[in-house]
Amino acid sequence: MAKVAIVTGGTRGIGRAICLALKETGIIVGASYVSDVKCAEAFSNDTGIAVFRWDVSDPQACLDGARKVEDALGPTDILVNNAGITRDVAAHKMQIEDWRAVIDTNLGGCFNMIRAVYPGMRERRWGRIINIGSINGQGGQFGQINYSAAKAGIHGLTKALALEGAKFGVTTNTIAPGYCNTEMVAAVPADALAKVVAKVPLGRLGEADEIGAAVAFLCSDKAGYFNGSQLSINGGHHMY
Ligand code: NDP
Repeated sequence: MAKVAIVTGGTRGIGRAICLALKETGIIVGASYVSDVKCAEAFSNDTGIAVFRWDVSDPQACLDGARKVEDALGPTDILVNNAGITRDVAAHKMQIEDWRAVIDTNLGGCFNMIRAVYPGMRERRWGRIINIGSINGQGGQFGQINYSAAKAGIHGLTKALALEGAKFGVTTNTIAPGYCNTEMVAAVPADALAKVVAKVPLGRLGEADEIGAAVAFLCSDKAGYFNGSQLSINGGHHMY
């Protein structure tokens, strides 16, 4: 029977590429989004992938949203926590709202979605949870104490859940992309981006479908022994 995946923030950027890569392997995908209805509708029309609207930072909305996906597509076998935002500002100027929005969406969103679907995976004795971290959670970044903390926290969550889920057949892993060609990175000023690319041994940004392919691999049966790992995909920008 085909497996069912929820990809949060699946309608554009890296999430879109993840949805397409999973669909290509025969997985039934539900993509979530929060505000860009036009983009979500166009994505659904182009790809045939069902879209669902909720805010991952809202715990109850995640329970309700996951239930809607499950009513439409079936029990969730795979969760890809991809939805994320940035609110970049230097630490001495950061407002509590900047901190909370990023922590509640990027890290809280992972917990809220895990809370919604992990108990079912555990009961059915199979699940794959992939959390999208970031190179900036590994190495830190100027102007991103909120984002770097959230992304580093994601990997802590991954490791703890990997311990708990293993005996129930649920594996949890992080993928930590480097800078990729998406709207999120388009917001970075061109001179700052040029400095980033200059530090990448491969000399270019990543492409969203390079992240999508890795997620599809981690969801496959061949990746059954990955658990609690953090897969860096960054052109050699940051190595450890
Ligand atoms: P984009 O900004 O292109 O897309 C973000 C997606 O997340 C959109 O679908 C958006 O929905 C959704 N989203 C944002 N906030 C919420 C929310 N509160 N609830 C539900 N969905 C939400 O991001 P990218 O594709 O660039 O990034 C995807 C992930 O990869 C993020 O976690 C990001 O931190 C991470 N990452 C990205 C890198 C990059 O270089 N691009 C590098 C390293 C990590 P809507 O369309 O409705 O706004």
